[in-house]
Amino acid sequence: MTVDELYQDLHAHPELSFEEHRTAATAAAALRDAGFDVVEGIGVTGVVGVLRNGDGPTVLLRADMDALPVTEDTGLAYASTASGVMHACGHDVHVACLIGAAQELAASRAEWSGTLVALFQPAEEAGGGAQTMIDDRLYERVPVPDVVLGQHVGPLPAGMLGAHPGAAFASADSLDITVHGRGGHGSRPETTIDPIVIAAAIVGRLQTIVAREVAPQETTVVSVGRLQAGTKNNIIPGEAELGLSVRAYSEEVRQRMLAFIERIVRAESAASGAPEPEIAYAETFPVTVNDPAATERTMAVFRQVFGDEAVIDPGPVSGSEDVGLLATAAGAPLVYWILGGADAEAYLAAAKAGTVDRDIPSNHSPRFAPVLQPTLDRGVAALVAGAREWLGA
Ligand code: ZN
Ligand code: ZN
Repeated sequence: MTVDELYQDLHAHPELSFEEHRTAATAAAALRDAGFDVVEGIGVTGVVGVLRNGDGPTVLLRADMDALPVTEDTGLAYASTASGVMHACGHDVHVACLIGAAQELAASRAEWSGTLVALFQPAEEAGGGAQTMIDDRLYERVPVPDVVLGQHVGPLPAGMLGAHPGAAFASADSLDITVHGRGGHGSRPETTIDPIVIAAAIVGRLQTIVAREVAPQETTVVSVGRLQAGTKNNIIPGEAELGLSVRAYSEEVRQRMLAFIERIVRAESAASGAPEPEIAYAETFPVTVNDPAATERTMAVFRQVFGDEAVIDPGPVSGSEDVGLLATAAGAPLVYWILGGADAEAYLAAAKAGTVDRDIPSNHSPRFAPVLQPTLDRGVAALVAGAREWLGA
């Protein structure tokens, strides 16, 4: 199968987080055919291929495999055949390109030395995949890398490569908060502790985090996406629930925000004489930090191979990623870049009209449809060029 065919097959058969069995089997078979030693089932469905090729550095290339609970609306001939599931984030591009790069690097192994690690990760969307692999003794079972490289397809002109040194993707923390009160009759509030009033005060006070607690130079977000309490107009409920999403571009600011949120929630409960509230963390993603020197070294090679005009610094992205955990756990630098997948002509026309946000479907949209070429060839070539730069000659 060519990389194009492989991609279309993956796109037609998307699988949700931690259910990537078919995708993992495809990756494992391709790696074995190319001569890699393959370890399967690291972190449920994770697959790692190792190609030991003499002395030299160890380079890890990472692709995530999972799809999203989205109903596809692209009209493509190779659209999803799984009802309600779609590769709407382009992880099929990542898998196809990494398989292509692994094959190419294996075929050219006479030209380099060192150890190549091709890692296929489950459950990036759910936020637990990288950590689950690490907790499943990843780096006791495969060589610890000297550098971690990876890419994410996105709405830049197809074939364009973009990396931002330093904090490149925001942290994301999802908090579930339960405020406890004391329920009772709406006509006798003096006998109750009203959790709705406490929750309302929390929502109001949370707005002061970005405005008062964080320096104006820092970009941060605190959103209350869920607020639930009560059943009937004349009943004061016993509890209220809040769901928060918190984003930051520095670990220090992130920790400061989370501590402040906890203080607000506890203090507002205490102010009403309510029992201790509960604060639970659901998905969490750390800040994704590209090592500045390693990023510059890798982008310099991209400029040399693909031309200055093909490489940009897109600035920090407000989305989140867990690829950084694989680098942090190895004590290795991370270089994570964006691979353009949007039709170049349509993108330029939209850019001229100032309608990129409206006209170019981005990740997680039911209409997200990267063009096959030059996206796939460039995705393969970028991984190969990046790996060759870090492997021994
Ligand atoms: Zn995504
Ligand atoms: Zn993604």
